[in-house]
Amino acid sequence: MDARAGFKLLNFDVGMAAWLFLGPRPGGEMPELPEVETMVLGLRESILGQRVRRVRVFCDRLMGQVPSASLRKVEGGRVIGLSRKGKFLLFHLSNGSMLVFHLRMTGKLLLVPSARPLTKRDRLRLDFSDWDWALNFEDTRRFGSLDILHAWEPGDGLLRELGPDALLVDLVDFRELLAGSRRPLKALLLDQRVIAGLGNIYVDESLHRAGIHPRTPADAVTPAEARRLHSAMRQVLRKAIVCRGSSISDYRDSHGRPGTYQKHHRVYQRRGEPCRTCGAPIEHIRVGGRGTHLCPACQKVPAAVRASARAKR
Ligand SMILES: [Zn+2]
Repeated sequence: MDARAGFKLLNFDVGMAAWLFLGPRPGGEMPELPEVETMVLGLRESILGQRVRRVRVFCDRLMGQVPSASLRKVEGGRVIGLSRKGKFLLFHLSNGSMLVFHLRMTGKLLLVPSARPLTKRDRLRLDFSDWDWALNFEDTRRFGSLDILHAWEPGDGLLRELGPDALLVDLVDFRELLAGSRRPLKALLLDQRVIAGLGNIYVDESLHRAGIHPRTPADAVTPAEARRLHSAMRQVLRKAIVCRGSSISDYRDSHGRPGTYQKHHRVYQRRGEPCRTCGAPIEHIRVGGRGTHLCPACQKVPAAVRASARAKR
């Protein structure tokens, strides 16, 4: 049985509930699966085995989410695992506690010298026993969240609402989740309850590589298109992890280094620039309220969408 299955979310914050049900906030692009995976890999190298000596919170919003009794339970635990679920970053501790970070737009987890003075951006600091480094949670816009779960508290948690991970979902399951919905592909793939880990960047990039229009109703996707999309999505995510993510605005890994996958973007934030496949200018449209980049030549409007547009006229 998955050791995490028995965890219960202590604090169900309203912002997170809204995010799960309404999708990410407009403009809230980062970080997505590859960026969180990069952070997990970087932190694993350095932080695994360290014992948490002290947890300090400097943010009223985080304080509201995590009662101090809960924080104290974390202290003394050794970091025995780091993992990712969708866009959540999970610290597993030897005393059964689990820290669950969601970095949202501007959140960063950075290793800093433990003697470094606090700044206005700092929201939380984890100090470790016998180590000169501390883990700093910085978040200028304060959308990021932290929850603490305890293994001995039964019940189901928020993490369980997440759909299968975009990097792990197999083709059979992927086709099934598409077939069950009439929503435009773009909106469906952004819904973390349907499939976890994708955001605006990697949905746009995957759809372009698969040659599928973002407004295509999910259940109108042909078996061949579903196979192309599944394969494109995994290729894009894997390559982005190798490049340590995309740094569009704020994102940095746990050592403060930017990612380089933005150099490989074919559509995202390339409005007006030539398509790298066919040369047509990249367009920017809105789908389900989200800014969307596509190539009008490589990603044709599907017949079903054209017909419904005609009917509305
Ligand atoms: Zn093109």
